[in-house]
Amino acid sequence: MKTSLAIPVTQIEKSRLSEIDFSNLAFGRVISDHMFVADYKDGEWTDLRIEPYAPLELSPANAALHYGQSIFEGLKAYRNDKGEVLIFRADANARRMNESAARMCMPALPEEIFMEGLAQLIDLDKAWVPSAKGSSLYIRPFMFAMDNYIGVKPSDTYKFIIFTCPVGAYYSKPVNVKVETYWTRATEGGTGAAKTAGNYAASLYPALQAQKEGFDQLLWTDGKSHSKIEESGTMNVMFKINGKLITAPTNTGTILKGITRDSVIQLAKDWSEPLEERFLNVSELQEALENGTLEEAFGVGTAATIAHIAKIQVNGKTYTLPEKSSEAFSNRILRELDGIKYGEISDPHSWIIKI
Ligand code: PMP
Repeated sequence: MKTSLAIPVTQIEKSRLSEIDFSNLAFGRVISDHMFVADYKDGEWTDLRIEPYAPLELSPANAALHYGQSIFEGLKAYRNDKGEVLIFRADANARRMNESAARMCMPALPEEIFMEGLAQLIDLDKAWVPSAKGSSLYIRPFMFAMDNYIGVKPSDTYKFIIFTCPVGAYYSKPVNVKVETYWTRATEGGTGAAKTAGNYAASLYPALQAQKEGFDQLLWTDGKSHSKIEESGTMNVMFKINGKLITAPTNTGTILKGITRDSVIQLAKDWSEPLEERFLNVSELQEALENGTLEEAFGVGTAATIAHIAKIQVNGKTYTLPEKSSEAFSNRILRELDGIKYGEISDPHSWIIKI
């Protein structure tokens, strides 16, 4: 990627790279040498810089800590066979972050700052992008309030940071999920479509209850009637019933507009797969499980790309899904997306940016 913004860099004195065991990377715990930082003051983003990754100094009165004006993104960079580093659809993350910002009364970040900060940071820490098959560099851009004021109001000052974490190959073991019909993740008019801290905080307790019952994740239903499937904890969900791919629409403001979801939909359209963007009723799901017309169910998100669902509990009854052949839609789409991300096949929608 060509870069034009002059971003000053303070290099770390001694890289931590040689201390890292790349064969044993715990997700999100190993953090690369540098971070990109920008500050929002007096109505503009200033003081763009790259500096060593280090703790921040925060006032105990920091508004984000009290009232949760905090948003984030998650995306990945991949190393191809030639050793080049590729980023997948970062511009879509930049746009989605600004949609979250608008909902949370936070300032938009010019897409150029997001993209250039990201590109220059990753170029500097290129050696941190793992090369083992299936591994990647997880990228965490985030923005939060910086006012030191405990009155409830939108902050006047913010910080935007990007740091990165090398992550190992994601062995996507099929997951067991429970259709949640009591707890609510999001309601119309709420913040469900924003990638904001509070949504994740509110989901922890219900998810923990489900884990105690032996499930990996919840399938959230709509907050009003709990009769329509919305999404999973950190993934959108898709079902294949009677040869048709069904996934919830994202126009209700209750579901995160997943970039993997959008990519799968675009590829499914390219392949002329029958596709319906509509809500799947819980009763319809149960019926399809009962009569054997549910062929596939899977989560789609940055972490796993595709997470096959092995078991689903609906209304207290647990169903086991059929085994997927390598030609199942979810497996074909996983191979296609991985092929594009690692630069192994052509990139028909120009989703890849080379650093
Ligand atoms: N839904 C939620 C609630 C999520 O946190 C995520 C992860 N960002 C997704 C869906 C999937 O989005 P993406 O494909 O952009 O990772």
